This record gives sequence, structure tokens and C-alpha cells, in this order.
Amino acid sequence: MTKYIFVIGGVISGVGKGVATASLGKILKEYGYNTTLIKVDPYLNYDAGTLRPTEHGEVWVTDDGGEIDLDLGTYERFLNTDINKKNNMTSGQVYKSVIDRERSGGYLGKTVQFIPHVPEEIIRRIKLASEGFDIAIIEIGGTVGDYENEPFLFAAKSLECELGTENVAYILVTYLPIPKHVGEMKTKPTQQAIKLLRQEGIFPDFILCRAEQPLDEARKSKIDFNVHISSENIISAPDIETAYEVPVNLQLEGLGQKVLKRLKLQPKKECDLSDWIKLVDNIKNPKNKVKVAVVGKYIKLGDYSVPDSYLSVKEAIVHSGAQLETGVEITWLNADDFVKDPKKLKELSAFDGVIVPGGFGTSGVEGKISAIEYLRTHNIPFLGLCYGMQLAIVEYARHVCGMQGANSTEIDKNTKYPVIDFLPEQKAVVENEQYGGTMRLGVCPAIMKDNSVVLKLYQDVYAGTSRLEADADRFEKLVKEGVCRKLDTKNIVLERHRHRYEVNPEFVDILEKNGLVFSGYYSRQDGTNLMEFIELPDHKFFVATQSHPEFKSRLGNPSPLFYGFLKACLKKDK
Ligand code: GLN
Repeated sequence: MTKYIFVIGGVISGVGKGVATASLGKILKEYGYNTTLIKVDPYLNYDAGTLRPTEHGEVWVTDDGGEIDLDLGTYERFLNTDINKKNNMTSGQVYKSVIDRERSGGYLGKTVQFIPHVPEEIIRRIKLASEGFDIAIIEIGGTVGDYENEPFLFAAKSLECELGTENVAYILVTYLPIPKHVGEMKTKPTQQAIKLLRQEGIFPDFILCRAEQPLDEARKSKIDFNVHISSENIISAPDIETAYEVPVNLQLEGLGQKVLKRLKLQPKKECDLSDWIKLVDNIKNPKNKVKVAVVGKYIKLGDYSVPDSYLSVKEAIVHSGAQLETGVEITWLNADDFVKDPKKLKELSAFDGVIVPGGFGTSGVEGKISAIEYLRTHNIPFLGLCYGMQLAIVEYARHVCGMQGANSTEIDKNTKYPVIDFLPEQKAVVENEQYGGTMRLGVCPAIMKDNSVVLKLYQDVYAGTSRLEADADRFEKLVKEGVCRKLDTKNIVLERHRHRYEVNPEFVDILEKNGLVFSGYYSRQDGTNLMEFIELPDHKFFVATQSHPEFKSRLGNPSPLFYGFLKACLKKDK
């Protein structure tokens, strides 16, 4: 039977519940327990697909095409597993299911009420995602006291009543401020969060105390006296250099063993974090250093800009850096600056490599195109992701193939050379204004060109890793589900997608004749070939992909494209 652990936030949001959940998951997995992680997002959006990344942080995409809050990405990065969209639920999905069921007569004449029907649907979803796992950790988004997470807390308590306390545990993640004028760490907000949670009938078993500094014994005792939680179960989680160190620190606090004991479980094997610790050490004390720029779009919200809109790109750089014992100094460059002042392009020479990530809409586009031209003509390593690849093709068409004014129809509907365009089915979707969940989403298998730079990278980096097996399994499933046909080649690469526009098949020949290599394509059931990777073999590193390889990069299992890019950055001979 599955055991459940709920992770709930107190005091303030944004203190790292996601990292805490992922870290505990990692520890329990290392103890030999088949563990899965589930994220509850209490907002009413059906999914994160229509949220603006510059406000909410990046949208995470799962293999099966879910558009989800970025915490799911943290889970995959720590657990090194592919997690499906059923491991995420929003209030919007829960309410829609209840109402749809009512409309289709699923409640058989009953009055449909908030209680029990909403918590019942929540529990149904939790159980579905937990099927076959020993332990499921469920992170409830938001903070205790928010109206919108009440139904989820109610559901947690109901599950506890149904299964018994030995099968359900609670962790409250709080924040302990150290006000400058007081100079002392304050426990009162944590005490109050515990009381607030108790009003829901939930007695937290562990308090994970986030703070700038480690928690001392005096603070632990204070919480113990005031709210009667044994100081042994009050876990110190101070700020640290890298989030990847959190599992190591929590394990030093004995959290894994304590949680297992609470759930009446014995370790199945020793918790061995040594490989992980080595990589964390590489992040903290790298032998080499490189400078990488990311040319993107950075929008301010009031006085702040959300740094999370390219979170996975940043993490993918860190993973490859850890593998190559290389520290990466990342500079975030605003693409618009190159339009305002083209002289700034020269500044790109100061970097060992440049990434142009995904994006939507017209802003910053010409700046990105000029940057790509500069990188191509100055032999500076370039990695293009999704929009980054589309714009690299626009640039190549304009400046190498002589197609003046070539563009993506996302930017110029009337361009003479629509090298990037809608395919017919996407046209219909947009004409009908159906924006949610209608892009090319999730994993697609690409058939790779023999001896291409890209294929070699995948073969080298994935050799001997769990990724090969995971991808082979996924591919078999896609064939069974009829998403793609069985292919007569072993040269297959699976990456995740989230975009509407494609390389226009009509221009592939001419681009190829002019020296651009298409190193992989996805052959759709209807026979259309969608271009997935490009490369310029004679360039130091000029590779781009229609996919988002950053979504499959993990610490200890990095993305081959990021790895190849960083390796090229390390070759300092210019
Ligand atoms: N805007 C482009 C498209 O929709 C690229 C999207 C992306 O970079 N994720 O095709």
C-alpha cells in the first residue's frame, strides 16, 4: 500500500517547498523506496500553459505534453525520472471534473456539494498518480491560511482518516526571519503557521525551518515548548549555495530516517548520496570557468523581474557544468538592446558561448537574429532552443541564401519567404482562438542523420546511462499509442516540444543546398517531416533544436546538447 506525505507551506511562499519535496523524494528513493512526487496548484487555471512566464516563471512541459508549474521540473531534476502530467492538479482541473461528471449524470441524482465531492475528486487524482508507488509526496502549493488551498488540506485529512495515521505524514515548511533591527531569529510566525494548520485538523509531524542561518537548539526548543512538536522533528534548512545541496543537508539532519520511522518503514538499502555529493562539490568548487550569455526577453513586474522564466535553461547549464567540473558565469542579455544599439553585438565576443532560448511574439526578435548572425560569422559557440532554432533559420535564409526579408509568419504574415510557418492544423486552432493546450506538446522522436554532430553528442553523453532505457520505453509506448510509427532505425532521439510554428518543408532543400545541415526530423503519421535539429559542422559549435532539451537535463544525467555546447565553450582557442 502507498504511504503518503503532504508538504505544506507556512508563513510565506517561495521558500523552497518544491526543492524540499524533491530532496526528500531523492532521499527516500535512495533508501530503496519507489517514490513519486505530486504537485497541487490551487489556482483556477486549468494548467500553466496560458500563464505568462515573465510573471509566473517558466512553463514546464512533461513527456506526455502537460504544461505545468515549474516545480515538476525540480522533481524530475532531483529524482532523475520522467514524471507525467497526472502528477499535477490545479483547482481548475478538479472543479471541471466535478462539474463535467455532474453534467453527464455521474452523481446519479445526488446534490453535488463542495464537501464531499471536491475532496473526493482530489483524493481520486492523488491515488491515480500514486498507483504502484511505495511512497507519494504531495506538495500543496500556496501557504496555509490561503482560501484556495483549504479543499486540498481537507482532502489530506480525509485521506489520513481513511488510511490511518501510520500511512499519512505531514511536513510543514516555514520561514524564520531574522529582522535586522532585532538581530535574532524569530519563531513566532512558525508557531502561528502550526496553529493555523491545526485548525484544519492537521498536526504536522515535521517542521522544516527555512532561514538565512541554521536553527540553533534554543529556537528548536522554543518551538517545542510553545507548540509541542518534539525538537527532534524540527529540521534546520538554512540558505545554501546551490539547491542541489539540500538533500545532503536534510540527510545530515536525519530527515529520511525520521520520516521512514514515522511511516513505520525500514530502510531497504543504505542511502548513498556519494555521486550526488561529488557533483554538488563540482558545482561549488569548479576546476574550470566559462562565460555564457543567454539572449532573451526580460520583463519587469513592478520593480522586480521574475528570474525564473528561463529556469530550466539555467539548470541545464549547471548540470553540464557539474559533469565537466566547470563553473558557468551566466549573463542575461536583453535581445532588444542589440536593436537599440547594434554596436553592442561586439560585446558577444567576450563570451565563450551564447544561448538563444525559446520565446513567443515579436519583441526582441530582430536583436536575436542579429546576435545569431554575429555568432555564426565569428565562430562563437551557439545553442538555439525552439524559437532560437527558428530564428537561426531565418538568419541563414536572409544572409546566406539571399532571401531578403525571410521571416517566421509569427512575426511577418506577409513575408515573401515564410521559412517558419504554421502547418495547416495549427492554423485552424488559432483561427478558432483555442489557445490552451493546442501547441505541439510533449515528446517527439526524431530520426537522426548518421554521423551528425548532434547524433554523436547523444550517443556519447547517453552511453551507459538510464536515459537510453527510459527513452526506448517511451518510444515503444508512443508506437503502441499510435502517436508515431515503428521506425527502422536505432538513431532516434526523444526531446520535448512546446511550439506552434515549424520549419516550412518547402524551404528545407534550398537551406540544405546552402550548407545548413538538418541533423534530425520527426516523421509524422501523415508523412510530413518536421525538422528537429540543425547544425553547421564546420563551426566551432552551431547547433539548434526545435525542441526544449533543457526539460530533460538532470544533475548526473545532463542534456547532450548543453554538454556539447559547454565543451565547445571550454575550448578557448578562438
Ligand atoms: N514562438 C515559437 C512557436 O510557437 C517558438 C516557441 C518556443 O520557443 N517555445 O513556434
